[in-house]
Amino acid sequence: MELIGYTCSYIPLEILSATGLKPYRLLHGEISLSQKGETQVRIDACPLIKSNLGFLLENKNRFACIIGATGCDMSRRMVEVVKTFTDIPVYIFNNPRTDNFEIYSNEVDGLVNELEQFFHRRLDKSIIEKECEKWEKIRQHLISIDAHRRTHPSALSTTTFHKIVKGYHQGKFEEIAKGVPEEISYKPRIYLLGSPISYESGPLLELIEQRLRICGDFNCGLSRGIYIRVTEKSVTGLKKAYFNQPPCIFKRPNKRYYEWVEKDIKATKSTGIIAFVLDYCDNFDFEIPQMERCLPLPILRLKSDFSFQNISQIKIRIDAFIDVLASLRGGVV
Ligand code: SF4
Repeated sequence: MELIGYTCSYIPLEILSATGLKPYRLLHGEISLSQKGETQVRIDACPLIKSNLGFLLENKNRFACIIGATGCDMSRRMVEVVKTFTDIPVYIFNNPRTDNFEIYSNEVDGLVNELEQFFHRRLDKSIIEKECEKWEKIRQHLISIDAHRRTHPSALSTTTFHKIVKGYHQGKFEEIAKGVPEEISYKPRIYLLGSPISYESGPLLELIEQRLRICGDFNCGLSRGIYIRVTEKSVTGLKKAYFNQPPCIFKRPNKRYYEWVEKDIKATKSTGIIAFVLDYCDNFDFEIPQMERCLPLPILRLKSDFSFQNISQIKIRIDAFIDVLASLRGGVV
């Protein structure tokens, strides 16, 4: 077994990696995996959860354990299903929804204890320090790659960035490209928000980028996570860095989320926003009216279930959105 699965950006990767296993973020979204997952959960469950379940059922021998989190109800449910239908041991990290550092800190200590007992291995100071150095280096490298995407004109597509950042989420450092291709684009610049972008979401990003350029995002599966800055190489330092990361939309209050996004859409000179929402992902869907109220740019809501059955509709909606962007800027986007 080579992998330790996890489901949320608030779970410190350095701690998972200190077990000697590769931290593998469960971010699958593909129709055949989804159908496999449907053998265990209702058909109207979130497609990401169904796909992750499908992936776990097919790859159960590769996972030593799964660290789930209390991010959204479906993700919590997935861990229960894994516990019931597979032999993979599971543990739940209770990520507090409120801004409460003490609860978060206790949860990280609980995770360290649990892993130490489970793997019969002390996650001591020197191991954690080494892991902090390793992951910080890779995040800095990814941030420097992301800068190509954000620059004006944008020099890297999100379609390519998505392929590169996958290595980070799957713990495969060796697959993270050293150099990046030059993909200069003068297409209208947009910012992406919404549900997680799965490993298999390349065609969706490609479809958007045939007409627009995604210059920044706040999505799990893309740049979310790489802006965590660990300066103090210890469990205490990890707690501070992960707690203060770009804040999750599900936190309450989530004012900091909106402040972060507003600042970032200015920094990336975006002219519009695409909010990608997975079918049945109510958490993000219910947040769209708030986004429309709080964010200063036009928002296009795209819904999908990874099947691409609505691909023609998506294309038409993107074209109509470009017209909206143009009409707001005297015909120029
Ligand atoms: S959206 Fe928030 S809660 Fe859900 S997986 Fe991402 S960081 Fe975790």
